[in-house]
Amino acid sequence: MRYEGSVYRPPSEAHSLIIQVTIGCAHNKCTFCSMFKDKKFRVRKVNEVLEDLDSARRYYRRVNRIFLADGDALVLQNKDLLVILNHIKKLFPECERVGIYGSPQDVLRKTQEELTELLAHGIGIIYIGAESGSDKVLADIKKGATRAEIIDSVKKIEASGIQASVTFISGLAGRDGWEDHAIESGTMISEMGTSYVGLLTLLTELETELYRDINEGRFKPLSPIEVIKETQLLLENINVTKTCVFRSNHASNYVTLRGNLPQDKEKMLQQLRTVMNYAGLLKDDRFRML
Ligand code: SF4
Repeated sequence: MRYEGSVYRPPSEAHSLIIQVTIGCAHNKCTFCSMFKDKKFRVRKVNEVLEDLDSARRYYRRVNRIFLADGDALVLQNKDLLVILNHIKKLFPECERVGIYGSPQDVLRKTQEELTELLAHGIGIIYIGAESGSDKVLADIKKGATRAEIIDSVKKIEASGIQASVTFISGLAGRDGWEDHAIESGTMISEMGTSYVGLLTLLTELETELYRDINEGRFKPLSPIEVIKETQLLLENINVTKTCVFRSNHASNYVTLRGNLPQDKEKMLQQLRTVMNYAGLLKDDRFRML
């Protein structure tokens, strides 16, 4: 396998075989993100991807899951994705699930039939970074997608039978917009019917626009306790009927939360209330990472 630059994957793909089908992120403009700043976006040649899969088969005896990277591998047209997925099926008959990053636009560009076709060929989960349910925050961070577009894309994924896993970021609106960010993210989760939600906590890296905004006083980050208060408000505003797995167990989080909504909502809120009373339970900033 040939990896180009740093390779990122969602926490739940920690044991997956990672194959780069794109290099970088087609959008690459989010103000808080430095992941692919050093890469010029391009789609890899399908033949190169197939060669990497051949090489992985020689190394690994058993591969249960495969994750297609980089930033938004779903940008590939179905005709190319199907060649890759068919090769995976032939080489790795034991593989139970193929996961992929996608942007809301990648999803909206595909027809419902194309998504169903991806499901039939092995795609089991699409990871989407929503980051916030607030249109103001989405515009501020230059996400390149609106609340309505993100909701539509998640509904479209779930309607195809593929599971959606949607990421939000605590603290992303800073002190000036935290309430709107929490409430709108909670109501968005309630509306979109996703199978999974992952909640990360903002960690700013040197080479980002947001880092400059903090240094120059345009953005006031939340304190750890304020992050917990925001998470509490977000959870209070989630009212789902279909089961949604909620995870806030990323290395960036101050507190680890795990539960299935709606049934574990009160348990997780109680956990947050406990942390509010015993700040010593918060993870030390020195141990937080992306
Ligand atoms: S957050 Fe996602 S969409 Fe935004 S620049 Fe980073 S990888 Fe690209």
